[in-house]
Amino acid sequence: MSEVHPHEEVRPERSPYAARIRAMEALLVEKSVLTEAEIQDRIEYMDSRTPANGAKLVARAWTDPDFKERLLSDAKSAARELGLDATHEAELIVVENTPVVHNLIVCTLCSCYPRAVLGRPPDWYKSFEYRSRAVREPRAVMREFGFEPEEGIEVAVHDSTADARYMVLPMRPEGTKNMDEEELAALVTRDALIGVSAPQAPSRAS
Ligand code: FE
Repeated sequence: MSEVHPHEEVRPERSPYAARIRAMEALLVEKSVLTEAEIQDRIEYMDSRTPANGAKLVARAWTDPDFKERLLSDAKSAARELGLDATHEAELIVVENTPVVHNLIVCTLCSCYPRAVLGRPPDWYKSFEYRSRAVREPRAVMREFGFEPEEGIEVAVHDSTADARYMVLPMRPEGTKNMDEEELAALVTRDALIGVSAPQAPSRAS
């Protein structure tokens, strides 16, 4: 009888790609290239990286101008200051949205993404449609996400590579003067860190 993978239950195969990966995984374990423990370690590493890390960096940058400078000049060291390990072979570059430029992140080739900070990219980020349209018609793409920078704001599209990963530092929304860092971080979504969206101040019920 064949052995059942310990994580069979929690990782249902959802696509032919998943099935292929599982087959390769089983072979690599069988041939002693990898162990189950190493695979689990890697999964745990990835699961510990979430967009909340990016939101933390943004909220600190919004409240501490010196930190913002450091985040923009050396993002990995700045991340370390907040206890985040952004170690990765690729450079981590944080690009700042301003009243004159809005940044959008894509990987036209495949799925390069600042995983060491944000974890796995959303599925749409890896889609052929996003990868091609983000460069061709970024404003149309953003509109479909329900967001578009104002007319006259330049849109800068950054193509991620094996050497450079990007994260957007969005603008702090108006009406958030009295919010603390934690409250501010809660406004920063994954999509805003990619640039297909922008943080909004919570609408106040009067
Ligand atoms: Fe890529």
